[in-house]
Amino acid sequence: MTEIAFLGLGIMGRGMVRNLLKAGHDVTVWNRSSRALEDDLAGATVAATIAEAVAGKPVVALCLTGPDAQREVYEGEGGLLAHVAPEATVIDATTTDPEVTVDLFAQGQSRAVPVLDCPVFGSKGEAWEGRLDFVCGGPPAAFDSVKPILETMAATVHYLGPTGSGARMKLVGNLLVAAQMASLGEALSLARKTGLNPDAVMGVLDVTDFSSGLIRGVGRASLGGAFEPFFYLKHMLKDARLIGTFAKASGVPVPNAGQIAEFYQTAVNRGLGDLNASALHKLQFEAAGLED
Ligand code: NAP
Repeated sequence: MTEIAFLGLGIMGRGMVRNLLKAGHDVTVWNRSSRALEDDLAGATVAATIAEAVAGKPVVALCLTGPDAQREVYEGEGGLLAHVAPEATVIDATTTDPEVTVDLFAQGQSRAVPVLDCPVFGSKGEAWEGRLDFVCGGPPAAFDSVKPILETMAATVHYLGPTGSGARMKLVGNLLVAAQMASLGEALSLARKTGLNPDAVMGVLDVTDFSSGLIRGVGRASLGGAFEPFFYLKHMLKDARLIGTFAKASGVPVPNAGQIAEFYQTAVNRGLGDLNASALHKLQFEAAGLED
């Protein structure tokens, strides 16, 4: 049993906390805004401030929106870095800018606190069921020390290399997520517009060698007009922008990813940001002259 502070009780954070508690850890949680918590999280201690949550804890885990949220939570007088116990280990599951990751790691190092970048693949269901895929970067010894904790929330845990490697791997993966989501929307628009039977279409997409978990998981929901958020569309835009910045800094042209980012921007401008990332398909259906 380890005493763990967990900061950020959004869609993903709540699932992660559930599994830390299930594994018998002593979890203290903090969220910026007060939230009603599911019964499964009743065993967690709720802290009023970041300082109260992290004080004396050997492990601090976080899952926040992105770089801006990280800056607010880590930095400043009331922030994590000012109050974390010396030599604690930080596990950060936020999908973020690899350069911010490197900077936060450097700030942690000045207090002998390793900040591991450990973003995840999987969504609300996988977080809740403890079946996430973690992609991690940071000092190997620090990673090894918290790997058993990661495993309580995970289907798989991958060590990618030095600080920033996990953050980079996450953006590499999300480039494919964003692209698949966009091409699925175009394919479904074409299928619908030309009168193909939706069940028959999904029956084919269930078995073909070009299918994927995303296509199988999202396709039926989009055809049924279900866009309840598991992964907010506004966060997909955030990731698409992060991919663009990362690729530009790396000297890698990603013209398709750039165009897809603009589709997501349009979707946010149309008020779809608080729906699931697949609500991009609403826009694509509309562009094809289809009803929702
Ligand atoms: P979410 O439900 O929107 O939760 C975001 C969390 O960040 C909330 O706890 C929010 O607090 C907190 N936050 C935002 N801005 C803040 C600030 N300035 N200061 C302090 N706290 C702040 O998002 P999520 O779906 O859990 O995603 C969390 C991370 O996991 C993101 O990086 C996302 O890209 C990544 N991710 C998500 C999925 C998914 O399917 N959902 C999958 C893989 C990775 P409040 O409650 O006060 O707003």
